[in-house]
Amino acid sequence: MSATAAKEKPVAQLKPDEAKEELARLAKEIAAHDQAYYEQDDPSVSDAEYDGLRKRNAAIEARFPDMVRKDSPSKRVGAKAAEKFAKVTHARSMLSLDNAFEDADVRDFDARVRRFLKLDAAEKLELVAEPKIDGLSISLRYEDGKFVQGATRGDGEVGEDVTANLRTLDDVPPLLKGRKVPAVLEVRGEVYMPRADFAKMNEARAAAGEPVFANPRNAAAGGLRQLDPAITATRPLRFFGYASGETSEALADTHWEFLARLRGFGFPVNPLARLCANVEEVLAFYHEVEARRDALPYEIDGVVYKVNRYDWQQRLGMVSRAPRWATAHKFAAQQARTRLNDIWISVGRTGTLTPVAELEPVNVGGVTVSRATLHNEDEIARKDARVGDLVVVQRAGDVIPQIVEVVLAERPKGAKAFVFPDKCPVCGSHAVRVEGEAARRCTGGLICKAQA
Ligand code: NAD
Repeated sequence: MSATAAKEKPVAQLKPDEAKEELARLAKEIAAHDQAYYEQDDPSVSDAEYDGLRKRNAAIEARFPDMVRKDSPSKRVGAKAAEKFAKVTHARSMLSLDNAFEDADVRDFDARVRRFLKLDAAEKLELVAEPKIDGLSISLRYEDGKFVQGATRGDGEVGEDVTANLRTLDDVPPLLKGRKVPAVLEVRGEVYMPRADFAKMNEARAAAGEPVFANPRNAAAGGLRQLDPAITATRPLRFFGYASGETSEALADTHWEFLARLRGFGFPVNPLARLCANVEEVLAFYHEVEARRDALPYEIDGVVYKVNRYDWQQRLGMVSRAPRWATAHKFAAQQARTRLNDIWISVGRTGTLTPVAELEPVNVGGVTVSRATLHNEDEIARKDARVGDLVVVQRAGDVIPQIVEVVLAERPKGAKAFVFPDKCPVCGSHAVRVEGEAARRCTGGLICKAQA
């Protein structure tokens, strides 16, 4: 059987040789996507598609446990630190998180933890629930209260030294607050870009002819992973602390107390974090946050649950790439597939020609979307969006819906590449591109109704 045929078979029907072939294909494909996402900050597929590949890999491994490869994606975290940065070996590894998608998965998580700790039904298992910020994880090292080093997660063991860049963030205190500070404290958390700042930055980039970022997460990673800290300083980056790495002394008995200590040391801690008495409270929190998601000033892709007691966390330990004492309850993707019916050009007040996608109306996370931006001429070319294509649209809060990708396998025969006009569709004047800019602009000035 050919590779393409094995690729389409349900996991339950795979024969052993096909399973082996599939595991090899998935390892290679996922590694390539990891490279684009973590090293270039420029994903080649949507997160939903990527998660689908990982799920398939996990399902095949569950059916054929003796076939798990040494280089399996299920054993790896992130991607290797990029060559251009100095390396930092983490004193304690930086892990990923296991995922839950349904409420039932969360109840399973609770039951698994209880079984592992041999808790009887009457024993309380407190969980701390925190929004899962969609950014990149960072470790900040303080010695005698002074910020001395900051690193990205990298592959979990070795990260990239981005100390100078992190010093430009107002949310990263150069000195710990308080009189009694530990000799060594590593604080871990998420660097992110608020949604409104992201939208503003992308608009400016599109107008200046620079490539736009796919989402705030990639914009945050791209902004932080710069060789020149002066560039990072211009990017609106923020930080939330939520964990510790190496510490010279015990700081708390529970995660909830630890978060309070973090605030005391001067770190921003997400104000929505909640101490929950049981799994039902955690699920109620999840649905509450999900309903408020679009109103939050930053993007979140789920809620993280952590066993509150540190002695229990210690006993639970970790499995391969994630701790046993935590799980990430993901939100359903705010993406959908629909048909691209037309592309037209809107002319802004400054004369910029912006391509707009007219879509077959589709429900994306509860909102009907019938239009999306294609940003500029280069973006249309890069995505190769054509009228008639099946496309993936994404909605994120108040940001204009965007086309994430074209489903090339479903392209109708004869679909023609879009030819960007060199005349203004409003006044007919020439529309030109200044060298080095991606925006094409109408030269009509005040003759043009769009600009007058
Ligand atoms: P993850 O994002 O599912 O979960 C782990 C991460 O959550 C942690 O490392 C931390 O950075 C973050 N986090 C945010 N808030 C947190 C909190 N309060 N407490 C603890 N952690 C918190 O796992 P991952 O391995 O970092 O990345 C996988 C994700 O990245 C998936 O969603 C996947 O879709 C995406 N991805 C996409 C592509 C692509 O090509 N599109 C490639 C690689 C990864």
